[in-house]
Amino acid sequence: MQEAIRKLLERDAGEREFQQAVREVLGTVAPFLARLPQPVAQGLLERIVEPERVVSFRVPWVDDRGRTCVNRGFLVEMNNALGPFKGGLRFHPSVTQSILKFLAFQQVFKNALTGLPLGGGAGGADFDPKGKSDAEVMRFCTAFMQELYRHVGPRVDIPGGDIGVGAREIGYLFGAYRRLANRFEGALTGKGLAWGGSLFRAEAAGYGCVYFASELLASRGLGLEGQVCLVSGSGNVAQHTAEQLIRSGARVVTLSDSSGHIYDRDGIDGEKLAFVKHLKNVRRGRIREYVEKYPSAVYVPVDPSLDHHPIWSHRADLAFPCATENEIGEQDAYRLINHPIKLVCEAANMPCTPEAVQIFAGKHILFAPGKAANAGGVAVSGLELVQNSMRLSWQGEEIDARLKLLMKGIYRTCLEAAEAYGCPGDLLRGANLAAFEKVANAMLDQGVA
Ligand code: NDP
Repeated sequence: MQEAIRKLLERDAGEREFQQAVREVLGTVAPFLARLPQPVAQGLLERIVEPERVVSFRVPWVDDRGRTCVNRGFLVEMNNALGPFKGGLRFHPSVTQSILKFLAFQQVFKNALTGLPLGGGAGGADFDPKGKSDAEVMRFCTAFMQELYRHVGPRVDIPGGDIGVGAREIGYLFGAYRRLANRFEGALTGKGLAWGGSLFRAEAAGYGCVYFASELLASRGLGLEGQVCLVSGSGNVAQHTAEQLIRSGARVVTLSDSSGHIYDRDGIDGEKLAFVKHLKNVRRGRIREYVEKYPSAVYVPVDPSLDHHPIWSHRADLAFPCATENEIGEQDAYRLINHPIKLVCEAANMPCTPEAVQIFAGKHILFAPGKAANAGGVAVSGLELVQNSMRLSWQGEEIDARLKLLMKGIYRTCLEAAEAYGCPGDLLRGANLAAFEKVANAMLDQGVA
């Protein structure tokens, strides 16, 4: 199988993140493929790794000093066998076609796990919103939508937020879409509540992760109460993961951004988290400012010369990586298993390297794979689209109840697939097999398309 995957990916040489995501999924689906005649399986694999469409475009805009800036925008439409393309938009200087293909590929399977009729995609630009004025972010979003609006729409492709794209950016993007398309419709998710958004959309990925983790812990007779938790990141997913952990009685002791992390031995409580939310979402400051406000905490800046990320060195029971891909590597995994950590829940997309995942598996650490654990974000985006079509808004309690049920359902789906395919308890394989089976069967039903 490894040789077959290598051959499949020859055309994508240099796309490191995409190759990693493809290997992770295809490396686990042999038991499903074995049920198909060989030529059918081969054709399926060739189609599934090839995006339906990749659009790459110039995004020219003018900064506050009157200078012309040019960024590179992308839209990757990976697979729409189950429904319109749906994924996140990422604005970050590290964005490349490889990163967006990895996100789009993962999204295909994540969306399949939710049971909603959604295909998978991703988009974004190598634009950095950090340090830009609101006016600059608006001009960039307007220029980005100048191309994007030709490709998106409620029946075609419905992007939402990801790193660097939050409520402010979705607002500017939606305003530009509405003017360019001359239509008010659910072409984006994460919209403001007054103009088509859904309650709980912002909270969904983080809360959903904690609901998933809680199911997994319960399988070993454990709960969240009193557990010491490491949370990385301080953006949307980190804030809401931390919020739900605090509500569940856990003690969150870390948060981070790309410059460093804070460690608060006393625990980050509701009041401290409210400070972080204001710092990050309104003042758009840096996490090091936390220690100016709460001096008993410590700040550790990023040290690029290290072979590990010191945030994972603090002793804890549970780890929730919520920042970005590959933030837990081999050396971090060794430190985590020495605590010993009881559970690693991937709240970000692909935050653990394949080496780290193997180390956790070797020690039977409870492991929640991102495509299942963080699917609450896209699930509530799906509910936002349903509300848009029905032209109504559900109450917060109703959406939270649906989110809890969805996460329980995803957990059960992964568990049952793992059982059925002979790898009981392996949620990563279970998630990949259940999702792959669903997407593959839809593709096979629809012929060579
Ligand atoms: P945000 O932009 O809101 O926050 C990202 C956080 O991660 C920030 O604290 C950021 O720090 C930090 N970060 C970003 N890049 C790096 C890096 N290269 N090294 C270290 N820290 C970094 O993004 P989200 O919270 O929305 O997304 C976080 C993760 O969750 C991503 O993997 C995303 O794909 C995934 N995800 C997001 C969903 C959503 O609905 N938003 C849904 C499901 C998954 P800084 O401020 O310094 O950049």
